[in-house]
Amino acid sequence: MAPKMSERDFDCLRTVEKLSANGWPARLKDISSDLNVRGPTALGFLDSLVRKSLVERGPTGYRSTESGTKLLRDNYRAHRVFESLLYKLGVPLGDACEMSSKVDETMDARAVDVFCSYLGHPRLCPHGLEIPENHRRRRGRGRTSS
Ligand SMILES: [Zn+2]
Ligand SMILES: [Zn+2]
Repeated sequence: MAPKMSERDFDCLRTVEKLSANGWPARLKDISSDLNVRGPTALGFLDSLVRKSLVERGPTGYRSTESGTKLLRDNYRAHRVFESLLYKLGVPLGDACEMSSKVDETMDARAVDVFCSYLGHPRLCPHGLEIPENHRRRRGRGRTSS
């Protein structure tokens, strides 16, 4: 079961993932400046993510764990699928993106799958960003049961 996440947890996790994308752990200084908060505040967010096993602390900085990365992928998937659905229904893209931001963190993955099939499994959102595939569906492909 996914841990309970606040919006701040998500912001902080996204920042860690982004800043460590080059392979180097994200430094506290860079995380706090990216989040536009003071060091001790950022440290509090990071402690919460470390307790949830979504981020790991190393000698030189922070990086997301496998479950942190997976949670983020699911969140990007939910956001981009729902935004694509709203856009298809005639909502201007800026509004669709904003509306999706308000629900993407809590959206049921099964509902996201339903929207995604309805849309014909698009590869990109209307911004041109990649929609991560449903890893469960990909693993199950080719099997006939379970
Ligand atoms: Zn968006
Ligand atoms: Zn988008």
